[in-house]
Amino acid sequence: MAKSPSSKTHVARKRALVTGASAGIGAAFARRLAHEHYDLIIVARVRERLEELAAALRAEHGGEVEVLPADLTDAPELRIVEKLIADTNLDLLINNAGFGTVGAFAQLDVAKEEEEIRLNVVALTRLTRAALPGMIARHRGGIINVSSMAGFQPAPYNATYGATKAFVTSFTEALHEELRGTGVVVQALCPGFTRTEFQARAGVDVSNIPSFAWMTADSVVDASLSALRSGELICIPGLANRALMTLTSAIPRSLTRRVAGSLGRRVAP
Ligand code: NAP
Repeated sequence: MAKSPSSKTHVARKRALVTGASAGIGAAFARRLAHEHYDLIIVARVRERLEELAAALRAEHGGEVEVLPADLTDAPELRIVEKLIADTNLDLLINNAGFGTVGAFAQLDVAKEEEEIRLNVVALTRLTRAALPGMIARHRGGIINVSSMAGFQPAPYNATYGATKAFVTSFTEALHEELRGTGVVVQALCPGFTRTEFQARAGVDVSNIPSFAWMTADSVVDASLSALRSGELICIPGLANRALMTLTSAIPRSLTRRVAGSLGRRVAP
């Protein structure tokens, strides 16, 4: 017997918030999640870029896409995003917005270093804290914290950046243990070189980095979401990156640190 329209099973759409969604890995997350029928809240500073992405995603996938322009290093703007997260039944939070600085630390602009810590560490921590109570109460939800392979060892000439990402990975690993049995999952996503606006914003010369070392933002996101589905806590996307990690973890830290220092000295501006 044909079912009446009213007897159709209604599948509730999921909702995700992505920070740093106007470019690179964040935009790739937004595209992929819209394709997977998520409604979205997309956050970054530049409203026009968010509006453009939102219009394209609505046209292609038909879901809701809310645009929330915010500078996450600005305390009042960060509070607005925290409040929205606390008041929304989020299924997924992608803490992706981040940037890096390169150069000898003693010569870098300390205000920019602080801004980097505010974005990569403070905003990510506060947004995670805003999301967790609701997710725990609903017994479901996921948080992907975008870290980096740069967080696995000290990063001379990229010192603050590496330290912020070491925080993100350690913080996420600790939460994974705290959240056992709650139905809420977390992931530290640790990409290597990914073709986005990141390197240009950091002012890094990438001409000497071999093409095999690079991944696309889309393939990083595919690896992350597939790892989330299988409950992997630390996601290192790409075979080459995983091989490099296996190799470096077998070498004493004093040596990898020294090699990183001499490589950094050559590429630092
Ligand atoms: P990207 O292309 O430069 O994108 C960065 C995003 O963050 C943009 O949407 C940017 O948008 C947003 N953003 C920057 N400052 C912000 C602020 N103060 N408030 C709110 N949003 C801000 O870089 P990406 O490579 O996609 O980086 C995403 C994440 O991946 C970062 O956490 C980065 O550390 C990590 N990662 C990247 C690589 C790589 O090789 N690309 C490797 C490892 C890890 P607006 O300018 O509009 O604000």
